[in-house]
Amino acid sequence: MADVAIAPIETVAEICESNEEKLEMAEPVKKKQKTEDDRSLIEEKLEQRLNGILCCAVCLDLPRSTVFQCTNGHLMCAGCFTHLLADARLKNEQATCPNCRCEISKSMCSRNLAVEKAVCELPAACQYCNNYLPRSTLEFHERQECSDRLTNCKYQRIGCSWCGPYHELQEHEQQCCRPQKSGAEILEALQSIDQIRDDEMKVYSNIFNLLSFEKITLNDLQLRPYRTDDFIPRVYYETSRFSALDQQWVVKGQVNDNHRDPSQSYQRTISYQLVLKSRVGSNCNLDVRFIVLKGPFGEMKVKPVIYNYEFTSDKYESDYNLLPLFTLGECNKLLASKTINCRIIMFQIQK
Ligand SMILES: [Zn+2]
Ligand SMILES: [Zn+2]
Ligand SMILES: [Zn+2]
Ligand SMILES: [Zn+2]
Repeated sequence: MADVAIAPIETVAEICESNEEKLEMAEPVKKKQKTEDDRSLIEEKLEQRLNGILCCAVCLDLPRSTVFQCTNGHLMCAGCFTHLLADARLKNEQATCPNCRCEISKSMCSRNLAVEKAVCELPAACQYCNNYLPRSTLEFHERQECSDRLTNCKYQRIGCSWCGPYHELQEHEQQCCRPQKSGAEILEALQSIDQIRDDEMKVYSNIFNLLSFEKITLNDLQLRPYRTDDFIPRVYYETSRFSALDQQWVVKGQVNDNHRDPSQSYQRTISYQLVLKSRVGSNCNLDVRFIVLKGPFGEMKVKPVIYNYEFTSDKYESDYNLLPLFTLGECNKLLASKTINCRIIMFQIQK
């Protein structure tokens, strides 16, 4: 027989009495301290436990924004969710939940608002002062409130390169030597700032110049994913034919410059080419500038970059040009979606 410890039976009166005794005996200050310690211990454990429950099943981090769940309730942060869908597109497989292997897709998975809100309430460390704050207030704190946040001197525009914690800003600005510099030195600083701005403006002034050309067309396109029939099939994109500049065209897209297996690579890019489909005469020369932008039905964040190509009867495919997306995540987002929606503007240069 196993030993069973049997607690001595106490009457209710006895328990109350002994508790009262303890209360009387305890020193109030110490007692308070102890409960506070206990509470912080419990809270810490609870936070840790919640971190383990609410974290993304893929990266194990607490999700920063949108949280998706599979039909069995496994959580995925937005970044990992799109990454899984993008990988599946590249491998030509059905995307599955990494926990339970059930199928996942945009229509099958739902958001989990309760988890999104709960994560917002959990504390996270400020990257500057290391204090713990609720996630929902962290961004505001790091941007406007934290006394350790990195700030630039107000004389940055005239060449001061100081960048330091906000609580030292006032002292620095009082003794900053920039305002005392000579006009010539300040002019130099202003010139280099102007240079950067001029480069940025160049692309816009180019577009404005092109807008006064005689032949301009604008088409909203849908790039659909297809697979090559190679031994190891590759994903590529193609639009249906469209008319522009009195000719027929298609746009083709490829991933990671047609690398053999882009699903293995973390760095992903999409590039595109413009293909002339109409048969043109041997003396025909179509000098075209083109730019891809976000269409009215698309969401992609793309930088405005103009490419050009001279199409002739035997040069009917432009080079592959990078679709200049803002972030790596943006590329996965496009791969994860059913189609890539964009707008192409074409300008014909007439000599
Ligand atoms: Zn994740
Ligand atoms: Zn699952
Ligand atoms: Zn802070
Ligand atoms: Zn300064």
